[in-house]
Amino acid sequence: MLNEEAKKPSPSEVIALPPLKMVLVHAKDKRVNKADLRSAIRKVSSAPVRQDEKIEVQSLIKIIEHFTNGPYYEKPMNSSARPVDVLRLHFADAVQENIPLAPYTSARIGGMADVLVMVKSTNELMGVMKVILEQGLSYTILGGGSNVLVSDKGVRGVVVLNRAKEVRFESGTQPVVWCESGVIFSNLANRCASRGLAGLEWAATVPGTIGGAVYGNAGAFDGDMSKNLIWADVLTKNGLERYSVEQMKYAYRTSILKSKAETAIVISAMLRLKNAAQEEVSAKINEFSERRKAKQPPGASMGSMFKNPTGDHAGRLIEAAGLKGTRIGNAEISTLHGNFFINHNETRAEDVRALIRLAQQTVAEKFNIKLELEVELIGEWNE
Ligand SMILES: Cc1cc2nc3c(=O)[nH]c(=O)nc-3n(C[C@H](O)[C@H](O)[C@H](O)COP(=O)(O)OP(=O)(O)OC[C@H]3O[C@@H](n4cnc5c(N)ncnc54)[C@H](O)[C@@H]3O)c2cc1C
Repeated sequence: MLNEEAKKPSPSEVIALPPLKMVLVHAKDKRVNKADLRSAIRKVSSAPVRQDEKIEVQSLIKIIEHFTNGPYYEKPMNSSARPVDVLRLHFADAVQENIPLAPYTSARIGGMADVLVMVKSTNELMGVMKVILEQGLSYTILGGGSNVLVSDKGVRGVVVLNRAKEVRFESGTQPVVWCESGVIFSNLANRCASRGLAGLEWAATVPGTIGGAVYGNAGAFDGDMSKNLIWADVLTKNGLERYSVEQMKYAYRTSILKSKAETAIVISAMLRLKNAAQEEVSAKINEFSERRKAKQPPGASMGSMFKNPTGDHAGRLIEAAGLKGTRIGNAEISTLHGNFFINHNETRAEDVRALIRLAQQTVAEKFNIKLELEVELIGEWNE
């Protein structure tokens, strides 16, 4: 745990500070000036680093640079300005107003974001979040938009679209990969395969980003994030913190973040891999891909709408309730799989919500089982 109460160090102490984490603490608190921090980074960057600590050191340097190099570090904020203008002051063209969110979701459903900011690096993500938190703006973070139903009325405040995509592999007897949270998970799994790295085969067919998967404990084919995550760097109200996998409190498709026990933005993650033959990893991915194609209906959807109740399957219950193929507007409970709700074209979120209610009510009446949503409803809804 970082010691937030540490006394203010002298510049020479900062430069000599072992470990590097201490520099980060002081950078966050702005208790050292930029010149000292830059000098500390230069020293640490050129110092020999143990092979097994290389990625950690690099990721910490990146974070410290965020606190010292970002354009947002020095510009004063005008508290009476509109949120969009405050953000534009710092992030210019990355900030857009009244943007339809449907194209940023796998279901292709949903209204407008008041403000949309696309970030392409950890530095930008941290910078945008710093302004949002300092200004007290309401925000929603979106990765691949593959596990959300966005309301027709849209999302108030700022939607941060995460496209931070840097990846670093660390080879050795216990290989790992560090990745920014906007990395597309399926791409990462395929990159691992081409390097002969196993462990993420299950993720090669899961849409969305690392951030979304860390948040929701995504999983498939007996694998899930809880089995791969070593730690995640998350931005909480206390600043940047490193959560171990235990701190994520993972359970079936949930975490400390998804259960809302804590609010945090996933910035990056370190994942455990295994050495393997490239052909073996690719063969497993192909097998999973074939199995998915055989079961999963095509078309725009959010994947599984409900979590599977203990000992049963939501899809089986919805089918047994006679609801497969039920349609409200252009939203349909798939004829192939009862837990997939398909957008047949320009579907309203309210129609999908009506189908959700219908499925929950019918399954509760017929089987006395409460179906719990896996997908999250975001934005402004009619009650
Ligand atoms: C066809 C299809 C098949 C699917 N199959 C599977 C499957 O097999 N297994 C499975 O688990 N899921 C599956 N899903 C659901 C989805 O792929 C996963 O839930 C995925 O992990 C969501 O990631 P995302 O980036 O799209 O998250 P989003 O939908 O963008 O966001 C989901 C939630 O995560 C939050 N979030 C996103 N990024 C961050 C971040 N950086 N920090 C904090 N919070 C964040 C959002 O605010 C939101 O609350 C499927 C979806 C589809 C469309």
